Amino acid sequence: MIHVSSAPVESVSWQSLLAGSITDPAELLRRLGLSEDLLAPAIAASGSFALRVPEPYLSRMRPGDPNDPLLRQVLPLGEELVDQPGYVTDPLGEQHANARPGIIHKYHGRLLLVVSAGCAVNCRYCFRRHFPYADNSLSTSEWQDALDYIRSDTSIAEVIYSGGDPLAANDRRLAWLTQEIAAIPHVRRLRVHTRLPVVIPQRVTPALLDALCGTRLPVTMVLHCNHANELDRELADAVRRLRNGGITLLNQAVLLRGVNDSLGAQMALSESLGDHGVLPYYLHVLDQVKGASHFHVPDEQAIALVGRMMIRLPGFLVPRLVREIAGEPGKVPLPVSLGGTELHHALRTF
Ligand SMILES: *Cc1c(COP(=O)(O)O)cnc(C)c1O
Ligand code: SF4
Repeated sequence: MIHVSSAPVESVSWQSLLAGSITDPAELLRRLGLSEDLLAPAIAASGSFALRVPEPYLSRMRPGDPNDPLLRQVLPLGEELVDQPGYVTDPLGEQHANARPGIIHKYHGRLLLVVSAGCAVNCRYCFRRHFPYADNSLSTSEWQDALDYIRSDTSIAEVIYSGGDPLAANDRRLAWLTQEIAAIPHVRRLRVHTRLPVVIPQRVTPALLDALCGTRLPVTMVLHCNHANELDRELADAVRRLRNGGITLLNQAVLLRGVNDSLGAQMALSESLGDHGVLPYYLHVLDQVKGASHFHVPDEQAIALVGRMMIRLPGFLVPRLVREIAGEPGKVPLPVSLGGTELHHALRTF
């Protein structure tokens, strides 16, 4: 299949693409040829969490389809404004684990650094949609405090760049930070959790690779790709650049109703990631964050889905189905097993 990409996007810098993201719901609907009926709820729901869609992500949506799986991740809907019991602003209790600005230290041996408060895209299901990022934009002295914290705790073997989206930070900042961290002897690994290369593949520049890969630390990048339609040619090229830079690539997705809650969608995502040398790592069940209840998939359905994937895919293309529970020492696996009748059927064929 020949993919015809829009030339203007390719020649534009990632910074311009980031700055030029669509934030006006009317423009989004107009660009996709969608009904104006969607406008009033989109404006209402974007009041508390803005619409933000970068151009290269928009280009992968199907015009005229209000149920497009990429559009559904970013389009504010009236459902967001309906309060549901159990859906809260800080479902993971991160604001408590946020002992110092910029640091979230919940799990043994691993420390999460909020490298950048911004994101390139605003995902409607985001569990950090209510996170007080303004308090987590670090001054120079706060960066030194964060580094001192890592220096003083020899149990920290891995530093994880997170956000927001850490790759919204500039390459100079990333290079400086990575060098400082690499100079701390007990840190063995660097990990980057990012959705930026997915929504703006142009972010993967030689300067970024230099910044991340220029030290002794092995680097793992966990992409956040939720649907096979996100893996277009530009992203495949970006993934190749990252791998050529020596970065180990994993993916984590969130299980979202109306986006990727079918066996077909999950199989296509895993196969497509596998085609590009990215291994599925986690499939998260939705965190119960206020405004995201319409994305909920029941646990039984999630468990059955992954059980069926185990029958059809090699083990390394089956993500671990997990939930984050505030106060737990790690992500909690859901009890997936090879599903009932499916299994009998599979066994009979041997
Ligand atoms: C997910 C997460 C990690 C990393 O967990 P892994 O199971 O190692 O992927 C670390 N810290 C926080 C706060 C996290 O949410
Ligand atoms: S990129 Fe990640 S942190 Fe940013 S809005 Fe989307 S899910 Fe949330």
